[in-house]
Amino acid sequence: MLKGKVALVTGASRGIGREIAKKLASQGAAVIINFSGSKEKACEVKQEIEDSGGAAALYQWDVSDYAACEAGMKNIIREYGRLDILVNNAGITRDGLLMKMTEEDFDRVIRINLKGAFNTIRFASRQMLRQRSGRIINISSVTGVAGNAGQANYAAAKAGLIGLTKTAAKELASRGITVNAIAPGFIETDMTAGLSDKVKEGAMAQIPLGVFGKAEDVAAAAAFLASPDARYITGQVLHVDGGMVM
Ligand code: NAP
Repeated sequence: MLKGKVALVTGASRGIGREIAKKLASQGAAVIINFSGSKEKACEVKQEIEDSGGAAALYQWDVSDYAACEAGMKNIIREYGRLDILVNNAGITRDGLLMKMTEEDFDRVIRINLKGAFNTIRFASRQMLRQRSGRIINISSVTGVAGNAGQANYAAAKAGLIGLTKTAAKELASRGITVNAIAPGFIETDMTAGLSDKVKEGAMAQIPLGVFGKAEDVAAAAAFLASPDARYITGQVLHVDGGMVM
């Protein structure tokens, strides 16, 4: 379904990004795996994709670094000549109650989770405008919709990402580019593995479907938004959260 398409997935070395990269590759897209530090893990993803007959490449840069992002995107366009799908997935948490949160932790989360997406959209959209087509998918969170005690930085970034999604959707729609967000709930990855049992129990109590989500659940939603079937959907926030936030 995505044969001939070129997809960039940021933060694709682990977790949700890894599954999105694999899913898009399984549908025929040539996938660019971006990562910042986990080189070995990123190599594993590339290998897995290639072993299944897909095409993948590694591009290392920190999404919060504007200049590095510009250089990375230029190299991608030089190499592939096009970019059809951009998934802004890279993200971190630095949790803490508002009154104890350091300025550094606030800034770092905003720079990676929000400004990182601005950086890639800024450069990717130029190419997509030239092509008069493109799909941009931003991985937000239910925390950006509903808020969450202990995550002021993360909630602000993820809510900001929804605003960025809707604005980009309006600016780019006339050129055939769709921009949507996905708001995952509690997904089992490295990001949630270290949370205390108490926090996990609290989260579970809020999930009507009664189970935590898997990275594959988010990947399926991303693949749908990237597919031709989603051509008439833009500016939306698709929740993948077991009913956690309605
Ligand atoms: P994860 O397992 O911790 O993986 C995070 C990924 O982001 C890694 O591949 C990491 O690569 C990459 N990354 C981090 N900082 C980066 C940077 N500065 N530049 C480039 N890549 C960077 O997290 P996850 O659970 O898969 O989360 C993926 C996305 O889903 C995030 O945006 C997260 O906020 C969102 N989300 C997750 C959940 C959940 O419950 N897990 C819920 C809602 C939303 P390196 O190791 O190479 O740095």
